[in-house]
Amino acid sequence: MNATITHNNQPASAEAEHKAGFAGPSGSAIPGQYRYRIKNTGYGSQRYGPCEVCKQPCSETHLQVEERFYRHFLPDGTVRSEGWTQYECNSLFGHEACLIARRRSPNARTERRGRP
Ligand SMILES: [Zn+2]
Repeated sequence: MNATITHNNQPASAEAEHKAGFAGPSGSAIPGQYRYRIKNTGYGSQRYGPCEVCKQPCSETHLQVEERFYRHFLPDGTVRSEGWTQYECNSLFGHEACLIARRRSPNARTERRGRP
């Protein structure tokens, strides 16, 4: 199930991320869409073990959290609830580049946290 490695168009700034839809709980998200949060844990393999993607040691282990947008409807067709869930999603520890390469969509949203 190796994902095709593609180049990700990263938002260049916090403002770009804001425009990409991170402003609200749903933004312009559509059901089934994935988004990713990635952060530098500040520790390496001595704490977290090898990269979960390439199995090699990491000097700076990143954590990537995958979330999927869902929308539930009432029988009359109105929206009962919607939001982002980690249900049946994959969160991984490893190299930043390895984690990004494992994303399901090259156009997925990115939110960065932690140390630069
Ligand atoms: Zn790796």
